[in-house]
Amino acid sequence: MQKELYCYNCDKYNTVDIIKRNDIYIVKGEPIEIEVQICICEGCGEELFDKELDELNIERAFDIYRKKHELLSPEEIKAIRETYGLSQGAFSKLLNWKEVTLDRYEMGAIQDKEHNNTLILLKKPENMLNILEKNIGVLPPLKEKTLREKITQLLE
Ligand SMILES: [Zn+2]
Repeated sequence: MQKELYCYNCDKYNTVDIIKRNDIYIVKGEPIEIEVQICICEGCGEELFDKELDELNIERAFDIYRKKHELLSPEEIKAIRETYGLSQGAFSKLLNWKEVTLDRYEMGAIQDKEHNNTLILLKKPENMLNILEKNIGVLPPLKEKTLREKITQLLE
């Protein structure tokens, strides 16, 4: 991968070398050691910040943090919601979460432990049914009916 970045030291765009090294990222106050990829200016050897690579490094650190704390991945969270055919809005309403919270989780933000536990419970349709029973009228009648049918189907 050939990449050019602006180097303040050289005061021009230079090709960079991408090197790997171990680094510590702080995730939710916890140091996580990962192998990061960083850009080095070919002109002067300075380390240059690259947003794209930094995002990948953060993603990698988050993945390790999730595994360590047995948290669901963003894909797993999305899959649980989709099992019930619910939109982010409807799913959030039932759980009494902010829609933006769920959206962030599905986009890769790290979820609260408590939210994670709720999501794990919801893998079982009987728990989803329980939530639905406690929140009658939260969803429009038609959506409620569709969800109930979906849960019944999953329970069979
Ligand atoms: Zn340079």
